[in-house]
Amino acid sequence: MADGDKGNRALRPSTEVLTRGFDPALSVGSARPAVFRSSTYVFPSPEAAEHAFDVMAGRARLAPEEGVALVYSRFNHPNAEILEEHMLPLEAGAQAALVFNSGMSAIVTALLAHLQPGQSVVYTVPIYGGSQKFIQSFLQQWGVNGVAVPGGNSRALDAAIANTPNLAVVLIETPANPTLTMTDIRRAVESVHKLGAIRPLIMVDNTMMGPTFQHPLLLGADIVLYSATKYLSGFSDLIGGFALSKDPHHLAKIRSLRSLFGTILQPDECWILDGRLPTVATRMRAATENAQQIAQKLARHAKVKRVLYPTLFEDGDQVRIRDSQCDAPGAMLSIELHGGKQAAFTFLRGIRIARNAVSLGGVESLVCHPKTTTHSGFTEQEFAQAGIGDALVRVSVGLEDWRDLLADFEQALQTA
Ligand SMILES: *Cc1c(COP(=O)(O)O)cnc(C)c1O
Repeated sequence: MADGDKGNRALRPSTEVLTRGFDPALSVGSARPAVFRSSTYVFPSPEAAEHAFDVMAGRARLAPEEGVALVYSRFNHPNAEILEEHMLPLEAGAQAALVFNSGMSAIVTALLAHLQPGQSVVYTVPIYGGSQKFIQSFLQQWGVNGVAVPGGNSRALDAAIANTPNLAVVLIETPANPTLTMTDIRRAVESVHKLGAIRPLIMVDNTMMGPTFQHPLLLGADIVLYSATKYLSGFSDLIGGFALSKDPHHLAKIRSLRSLFGTILQPDECWILDGRLPTVATRMRAATENAQQIAQKLARHAKVKRVLYPTLFEDGDQVRIRDSQCDAPGAMLSIELHGGKQAAFTFLRGIRIARNAVSLGGVESLVCHPKTTTHSGFTEQEFAQAGIGDALVRVSVGLEDWRDLLADFEQALQTA
């Protein structure tokens, strides 16, 4: 589906996302892509079918300029190809993209492609609950050793990278959810490169800040992972994921497992998500401006103990990491109230505009209580280490007028 201008990197991302990757001639001239709801594709000849299967099985190579043939929609389909082409310019440094039917399936498929029994994965905590469960419960049973390192602790991460035997993958989620603690991606890359030519891959879950404000591939990371359910989709109405890399070879194994597992996103969802990509940066910038206003003002509120938000960082190292790897503070913040769970619940009950729901990154603001919901699987020790207390409320700031959101939080604080 590429229209031949793949190499044209003179255009900026917001232009490229609207001009590349889709040829109207292949969609009866329609200005926007059609939805190709077909499970299978017709071959022009038996020889072409034989060649397509030879290529898929690795018995033959693609000729220069030859695209991967459309065969069967568990492997590949036009709406996935169009979407992947449109995602590339948004992720700085990316040369290849794969779309998945959830963020978790992107993470699981990527980890399984690059880990074998007897190998280890180092990961930052707190990390997304599903990622943690997959590494700690599932991979463990399959003989993969998981080593957790507190996010933001560069020395501990250096040590884990240097000392973990058979280390194959380092998975970094930054900023951490819900504390927004940041891990230094570039430093992790340097640590990994000290191990020599045979080194672990660095994967970054970029869901919180990417693709607009954080660019792990430019910092040396190998693979970037997404829950597209969040900012990329932006309307809390679909589940999807991405894996991207500057090196298509890193994605080849992931692609082949995606075909095997059937973790590709379906055509209708690809089409919906594709239409959201041109507005990701605009939505993220607007939500971030809102979040900045709300964070600064709530930080001074008498009923608020502290607000966790990148512009309010006080730790020198966190400030340095923020300034070196994030273009903007983002639209997630957490509010720690005076008091305990009761204060947090009363506050949540009093909020009228933001909805009490998990998930994030939508145009509508969402609030939740991490300790009893998204992070309820943590042990007391993990809560303490991550800094997730009883009185912590997480806010995903959307696109409502910030003055209305702030006034609503303030009236809810009066009741808390
Ligand atoms: C939501 C989320 C995931 C999981 O994505 P799904 O689309 O729900 O499968 C992974 N990582 C982060 C940081 C998330 O916020």
